[in-house]
Amino acid sequence: MKVYGLIGNPVGHSLSPPMQEAGFDAIGLDARYVTFEPPKEAAGEAIRAAELLGLDGLNVTIPFKRDALELVEPDKPARRIGAVNTIVFGSDGPSGHNTDLEGAIRAFEHHGVTLEGANAVVVGAGGAGRAIAFGLVDRGASVSIANRTASRAKALADELGGGRGHPLDVLPALLENADILVNATSVGMNSDESVVPATALHDDLTVMDAVYRPLETRLLRDAAAAGAQTIDGAWMLLYQGIGSFERWTGADAPIEEMNRALRAQLATVAEPSSPTGQGGDV
Ligand code: NAP
Repeated sequence: MKVYGLIGNPVGHSLSPPMQEAGFDAIGLDARYVTFEPPKEAAGEAIRAAELLGLDGLNVTIPFKRDALELVEPDKPARRIGAVNTIVFGSDGPSGHNTDLEGAIRAFEHHGVTLEGANAVVVGAGGAGRAIAFGLVDRGASVSIANRTASRAKALADELGGGRGHPLDVLPALLENADILVNATSVGMNSDESVVPATALHDDLTVMDAVYRPLETRLLRDAAAAGAQTIDGAWMLLYQGIGSFERWTGADAPIEEMNRALRAQLATVAEPSSPTGQGGDV
């Protein structure tokens, strides 16, 4: 039997076990997916232990994603984003990957959104914002970043090369000519708030929310009311999980089965993900 796992603290919120196991079952792979909650300062010991115990692959979530960068051989996306969310235990030692970037891009592609030449606005400059912004730039979109802490937006825009960083209050002006808007902040998670004024939304926009709990955020409701195309956060979550699945198994992921399991789990778990309201992302 193959054993895959997730390390994080906390991990009680994770939607990955049913999603990944639905995928293993659908391709006839005898495998299980187990969550582990090591102490917050024990990233190195936990990854080493997983390797020694013969786990076949690991997902990594808060607070270990940055630590993992130093503990495994990161690939280019992981290095650019500054975080590892997937570890493959290969014969050359553990390698680190970040599947959030491809998760966001594949979510757009699934919905038929043209990224090449698009004018995109990403709100947020944390881990999710970095992954989504790099992915969009790689696909030929022109990306503006808006963030509560404007200096972080500017720093990310500089890294993107040619991007621009802004405080949140310029969002209405930025959105006037935008094709794509992504919320990559935690605003809207377990609360009925939006980081974008509803009046700034319009029907030429595709709006993606990285927040997946609740699935229908205030931002997505406002966007739908304005006539925009909407993409909920479970699509990015699905495709980042598919990125891990495909790296571990070498097989094409059974997308429909994994999506069905993920959405069934989301429908049953309505509780706040942690006492602070901060959820993981794996
Ligand atoms: P993070 O690194 O902690 O970044 C948080 C971001 O949210 C920062 O830009 C922060 O701005 C902003 N923010 C927090 N509170 C805010 C507020 N009250 N008003 C305005 N901005 C605020 O977190 P992350 O890992 O990027 O995750 C962000 C969200 O994306 C979370 O909800 C997470 O669950 C979700 N996510 C989803 C997926 C998926 O697959 N769907 C993947 C990854 C993450 P400052 O810089 O000013 O602090």
